Amino acid sequence: MKILIPSLEKHAGEFVPFSDQVSLAALGIDAAGSEDAVMNINVEATYLGDRVLVKGRWYVDLKDVCSRCLEQADYRQEEQFTEEFTRLTGSAPEADPDCAPFAGEENFSYSGDVLDLAEYLRQSFLMSQPLKILCREDCRGLCPVCGVDRNREECCCQDEKIDPRLRVLERFKKK
Ligand SMILES: [Zn+2]
Ligand SMILES: [Zn+2]
Repeated sequence: MKILIPSLEKHAGEFVPFSDQVSLAALGIDAAGSEDAVMNINVEATYLGDRVLVKGRWYVDLKDVCSRCLEQADYRQEEQFTEEFTRLTGSAPEADPDCAPFAGEENFSYSGDVLDLAEYLRQSFLMSQPLKILCREDCRGLCPVCGVDRNREECCCQDEKIDPRLRVLERFKKK
């Protein structure tokens, strides 16, 4: 997603809306099972002279496997953000890695007439990936003893809070 700086400059001090749809593939993101997923982006940007302030949100509807019941899970990944992009000027002194006071990873920049949000959006997506994907918040998962999907049927197993790896050890001890 690209924002043309001259169109912002004309409206300096105002927030100008931009929206776009970009495939995850175009952002260089490999989302298994969601190859054709699209990021929907809605932002407002304003020109502040040497930098551009961008605020808004993105969302992606994704499919994956529920980590509790192993059924397909449809879920939405989204993020709201406010970020400043600093203009890199040709006359700026070369950053000396030993004494660059603002060499933080949070520092996004652009040069010329185009602010390309792709790299920012790629990182934002990767950082907001959920650790665990659930088909629904209260998914009951598979029975660790008999393996039935407890969302669909009840089983008679006792709900032992035993780690399956420990259970293997117990069986071993009995021998
Ligand atoms: Zn589930
Ligand atoms: Zn069971």
